[in-house]
This record gives sequence, structure tokens and C-alpha cells, in this order.
Amino acid sequence: MVVAGRRRSIGLFIALGVGMISVIVLLYVGWFFLSWRSGILLFLGVLLLAVLISGVVLNTFFLVREIRRNEQQDAFINAVTHELKTPVASIRLYLETLQTRAVEEDKRKEFYGIMLEDSNRLMETIEQILRTGRIGHSSRKPNLSSVEIGAVVEECIARARTLYNLSPESLSYRPGSSITILADPDEVRAAVSNLVDNAVRYSGNNVKVKVETGSIHGRDVFVRVHDEGAGIAKTELKQIFKRFYRARGPAAPRVPGTGLGLYIVRSVAKRHGGRAWAESEGPGRGSTFVLQLPISR
Ligand code: ADP
Repeated sequence: MVVAGRRRSIGLFIALGVGMISVIVLLYVGWFFLSWRSGILLFLGVLLLAVLISGVVLNTFFLVREIRRNEQQDAFINAVTHELKTPVASIRLYLETLQTRAVEEDKRKEFYGIMLEDSNRLMETIEQILRTGRIGHSSRKPNLSSVEIGAVVEECIARARTLYNLSPESLSYRPGSSITILADPDEVRAAVSNLVDNAVRYSGNNVKVKVETGSIHGRDVFVRVHDEGAGIAKTELKQIFKRFYRARGPAAPRVPGTGLGLYIVRSVAKRHGGRAWAESEGPGRGSTFVLQLPISR
């Protein structure tokens, strides 16, 4: 409902802008025929016309941008509320059960396990939001030190295997030669973890994730994460790196999330003078994400 309302108001503002420009052009054409002899007036008229049209175009552009931003923030608040509320509700339910009923030892252990998983999910969401704030501040520079890229990737993979209970075949790593770069270890870890987590999360039950590292012409190092999961529409390959952006439409996978992971990946790449991008043949055809960072700065 809110989105439809916003779309209507975007359409209204664009129509208003186009209408105003048409009126100005009409006025100008009429005025031109009335006073075509006086050259200076004509020149001033053209100038005024250009200023007016630029003003209207700029005004419409900024208005539409603001509406889009509001729309994204609404989507983010909805996603975050869901991501915070669901694990808390689950923990509460298990605690209530433990408090009000006699639960067997096995079940009790299972409940503790689930509550621990939920609290981890809660911590991840909070950490993701805090990291977005930190990275978004351009005054906060990365904390540089020597980082062996293979070691960071191995760490992220070990974490994901434990977290999602995966075998080495489901989540495999092919290391390249050992490469050390100058980077912020926490930021690089966060970026690689987000890529690996996404590859697993968007693979559904068919987790076949392959991670590779290597160097490009001895200048850059790359981390490539390939999955055979949900895939991405060509039109969304760039959009998904925007803050709060989540794929939409009937083909979009139904996986809970906040739309911050890839924004963090791209920000980390940029802060280190590198880049990050996605490749996919389309929905249902898997995807490949590449994080590229310079070896020396
Ligand atoms: P989140 O996963 O929390 O929504 P991200 O910023 O990590 O946020 O991802 C943004 C969007 O990009 C996701 O909503 C999803 O649609 C798409 N996406 C990211 N990684 C993958 C992947 N490996 N396969 C398919 N889609 C992906």
C-alpha cells in the first residue's frame, strides 16, 4: 500500500515537472513569435528559459531521489524489525516453556542450542547495522595491517561450515598462492563472510559453494565466491550493492535479511581502493561474486 502510494506520488511529481516544462516551452514559443525582432530580449529570454527548465528538472530529480530514499529506509526498517523480532520471540517462547513445564534433559539441551543460534543471529544483525554505520563514516579510515588473504578466507569458511552445518564438499575452498596485503583485517573478514554467508543462504537446500583466491597480474588479489543457488536478474546485478536494497519480484528468493551485506562488501572494497561485483546468468542459474583488492597501496 505504502509502496503503491509512493509510486503514485513519484508519478505525480514527474507529471508535474513535465507539465511545467511544457507550459514554459509554450510560453516561450508564443513570446518568440511576438518579439522576434528584439534580439537582446530574445537572448535574455533563452537564458531565462534555460535557467527555469534546469531548475524544474533538478527539482524533480531531487524530489524523486528523496522519495526513493524514504522507500528504501522503510524497507530497511521493516526488514530489521523482522530480523530483530523473530529471534527474540523464539528465545522467549523457549524460555517460557522451560519455565512453565518440566522438560526432559535431551529436549532441554536442544532448546538451549536453538536459543544460542537465535542469539547469534541477533548479534549478527546488530553487528551488521553497527558495521554499516562505522564504514559509512568517511572520516573513519581502515585500520591497516598485514593480512594473509588465504588465512582470512579459511577462517570465514570454517565459521560458515560450523554455523550452517556444512560438509567440505558443500562449501569448498581452492586456495591460490599465499598473498599478503595491507588491509583492515576486520573489514576484509566481514566482506568475505558476507559473500560466503550469502552464497549459502541463497542456495536453499542445494548448497554447492566454491571459493577461490588468487592474484591478478601480481597487482590485485581476488576472492571469488561461486554458488549454484537462486541467481540474480541481470537488471539487479548492480542494484544489489546499494544500501538496504533487496531483490524484488516473484522470482526473488524468500530469504530473510536486511539488505546491508553487499553494501558492506562494496564499501570495504572501495575503502581499500578495490572493487566488488556480481555475475549471474539469471534467476535460478547461480551467481558469482568477486572481491578484488590491491596488494600494495
Ligand atoms: P540481504 O541478504 O540481507 O538481503 P545483501 O546486501 O547481502 O542483503 O544482499 C542484497 C540482495 O542481493 C539480497 O536480498 C539478494 O536478493 C541478493 N543476493 C545476494 N547474494 C546473493 C546470492 N549469492 N545469490 C542470489 N542473490 C543474492
